[in-house]
Amino acid sequence: MSSNEICLYTPNKNKNSGFNMWMAFPGCEAFSLSSLGYLWMFKSIDESEDVNIERICSDTQKTELRADEIDLIGFSFSFDMDFLTIFSMLEKYAIPLKSSERNSNHPLIFAGGPVVSANPEPYREFFDFIIIGDGEDVNLKVVNICKSNKNRGKSSILEEISKLDGIYVPSLKQTRVKKLTKRLEECIYTPILSANAFFPHTFIIEVARGCANRCGFCLASYLNLPLRFMPYQDVIDAIDEGLKHTNKIALLGAQLSAHPQFEQICDYIYKKIKSGQKIEMSVSSLRTDSIKPEILRTLIAAGQKNITLAIEAGSERLRKVINKNLTEEQIMQAVEIAANEGLKGFKFYGMLGLPTETQNDIDEMITLAKKIKNKYKHFDISFGFSTFVPKANTPFQWIGRESTKTLEEKERYLKKELHKIGVKASFSSAKWDYWQAVLSRGDGSFADFLIETYRQGGKLGAFRSAAKKCNINADTYAFETYEYEKELPWDFIEIKPGKPFLSEECKKLISA
Ligand code: SF4
Repeated sequence: MSSNEICLYTPNKNKNSGFNMWMAFPGCEAFSLSSLGYLWMFKSIDESEDVNIERICSDTQKTELRADEIDLIGFSFSFDMDFLTIFSMLEKYAIPLKSSERNSNHPLIFAGGPVVSANPEPYREFFDFIIIGDGEDVNLKVVNICKSNKNRGKSSILEEISKLDGIYVPSLKQTRVKKLTKRLEECIYTPILSANAFFPHTFIIEVARGCANRCGFCLASYLNLPLRFMPYQDVIDAIDEGLKHTNKIALLGAQLSAHPQFEQICDYIYKKIKSGQKIEMSVSSLRTDSIKPEILRTLIAAGQKNITLAIEAGSERLRKVINKNLTEEQIMQAVEIAANEGLKGFKFYGMLGLPTETQNDIDEMITLAKKIKNKYKHFDISFGFSTFVPKANTPFQWIGRESTKTLEEKERYLKKELHKIGVKASFSSAKWDYWQAVLSRGDGSFADFLIETYRQGGKLGAFRSAAKKCNINADTYAFETYEYEKELPWDFIEIKPGKPFLSEECKKLISA
């Protein structure tokens, strides 16, 4: 624990079990210190187990434990491209990348997080086991099995671990792995506050998990069903606890404002601010149809100047197709409330290349921007766009994405048209999104391709040339629209019973 950190829990002092573990984050320390899931997993083991556990990140210079003393390494795997950093971290500690190349002197290595929960197959050769879904409860059981069987061979430990729900052991023949779903009985909040965090000294509280809206492309929704809320009193207690140590509070949740007492939570903070307490509060995201004066006045009083609203598509038609179901009237109403309450502006988030998108849908985005600009002259609006990436275990998993060329044309068009009316727009890289799609729908043949990409430097050119060298037809994974009945590499991961919801328009695409 560095001197810049405040630990909000009591670590287990009995560290004499002779079992050593690294909790690894594939990114720099600043990001790890703002990653609630990663810190919470670390805390749960550090607090309750007699295990020597240490955090390591991509920029860790010096560790207390030596690599050859480590029994278990757990990686957080949240973004498709994390595999590149995971490889470089393994090599830094002289650990072979493939599990088949590691011997009994090497630690057992596992991963957990949204990417490997949705589709672990591209990464099956690198990890001894993978946690599918919410890992908070199972990780202690896993550590206990590894600890109490330390002197037995790896294969018998893995056999034992595979009996736990939600654990995928690629070396064993498992025909079905059911996603773990945590019951939110305790409030999850930042266990370690740090000045070095990306969001320095910010106390993050998870208020809701999941989103019931089920937009067709959204992994955050499908992976985290059902929508769950933290009990109101626990959130309030957590806010009070956080405010003992810092004045920066962040509320986290994909559908935060669906919390039945969200307005009361905001009101609690608002009253504290009005009574003279200095509090900076931010929220991860808000749904457009949940913008209310009571919520906004709290955010404004707590220093938030802009809010990001995900509208995804320009037209109501397309928003219906993707199951967003947001009307233009609701968008205009949100702007009106925000402008009246004194918010500086909105950043709208949209997605290009969504299934069935036409030029008309793009033009409607511009029309909407014009309408807002004309009516609310001093209200600042900007747009951020990404491109559609089919994600495993979502309803749009069958649908191929559009070509990079046409997506880039759409980007140029939007940029030009929005610029004409003084609206800024930023875009994700369609070329990188293409490789994200390839990885999202990848399969068990990817191991050498991923290693080769890493060896060649991990840039766009490296992906292209590695795919060629390893005979991976990347276009098939990115562009092909699969038949509904096609067997998919990740079908054995049971995210929720039955096949996901698909709108009629999308069903037509799949059977076309
Ligand atoms: S509303 Fe947002 S979080 Fe919810 S399903 Fe849609 S895109 Fe995902």
